[in-house]
Amino acid sequence: MSSPRFAFFQGKIVPIEQAKVSVMTHALNYGTAVFGGMRGYWNEEKGELFLFRPIDHFVRLKQSAEFLMMDIPHTPEQLRAILVDLLRHEGYRQDTYIRPLVYKSHEGIGVRLHNLEHDLTIFAIPFGSYLEHEEGLKLGTSTWRRVDDTAIPVRGKISGAYVNSALIKTEVMLNGHDEAVVLNQDGHVSEASAANLFMVRGGKVITPPVHSNILEGIVRRSLFTLITEQMGYEVIEREIDRSELYVADEVFLCGTGVQVAAVAYVDHRPISGGKMGEFVRALRELFFNVVRGKVPQYAHWLYPVYASETISAD
Ligand code: PMP
Repeated sequence: MSSPRFAFFQGKIVPIEQAKVSVMTHALNYGTAVFGGMRGYWNEEKGELFLFRPIDHFVRLKQSAEFLMMDIPHTPEQLRAILVDLLRHEGYRQDTYIRPLVYKSHEGIGVRLHNLEHDLTIFAIPFGSYLEHEEGLKLGTSTWRRVDDTAIPVRGKISGAYVNSALIKTEVMLNGHDEAVVLNQDGHVSEASAANLFMVRGGKVITPPVHSNILEGIVRRSLFTLITEQMGYEVIEREIDRSELYVADEVFLCGTGVQVAAVAYVDHRPISGGKMGEFVRALRELFFNVVRGKVPQYAHWLYPVYASETISAD
């Protein structure tokens, strides 16, 4: 993974070496930060880097920040303009991962949310696949349960809550799997360590509802549209039992990092014969064409970094 050269930090674009915080930073001590994860897809033919749904990502970032009583003064459009400026400084001509972070920059001791300063930073790195085996993942059910909305808001991407994801991911990887099935406090399937989960069963496409303690994923929402409009299936949101996954026709994960990834095994049991199923194969092809700007119908989900008008971020 190569390092970025710049970051947006304390209100301006600076060399990455200058984007540093103190050990006394509240967010570092208490996990009081929220983040986003967004992708830019390089289209070689068009010589363009397309941001995937940047406004939706910045709307969610602002909501996440509000959970921790941090107001971002910029509109989503202004945040997008800052990001475009940053990416033009980097000049990336390849797939890119973008990480905005809003954090309690206050330096001092005391666990609370109120009356603390905060700041916004953004950096972006060249990035390909997040998971090595996205064409046939091995999932294992974690013994850790997904953080519950009664403890930490689950529809926000709250840094401290990702200790839960880290425990889950490490447990299943050390046990020889690629990714996790995470159960919620009720024992139903919620999602993976940092991706949403779908299954195809009896000709139906099913995914856990937002009240199953999932993150309200932006790729998840995009797949609802693609599956309904392009593949002619309805998506059913309902609770899923662990054992249903064992007898599912297909299981797949989605998210900014994993994109659309096929699941070949759950708890060592083969799904769709231990290889990628036909539904997810078709969905992946469609998804990658959409994000690379090859399907005009969904061009409104994309924002060109190099061809866009320069809008003031002020
Ligand atoms: N769940 C969790 C816990 C995540 O961290 C992510 C990645 N942001 C997702 C699901 C997928 O969300 P999105 O499609 O918005 O990337």
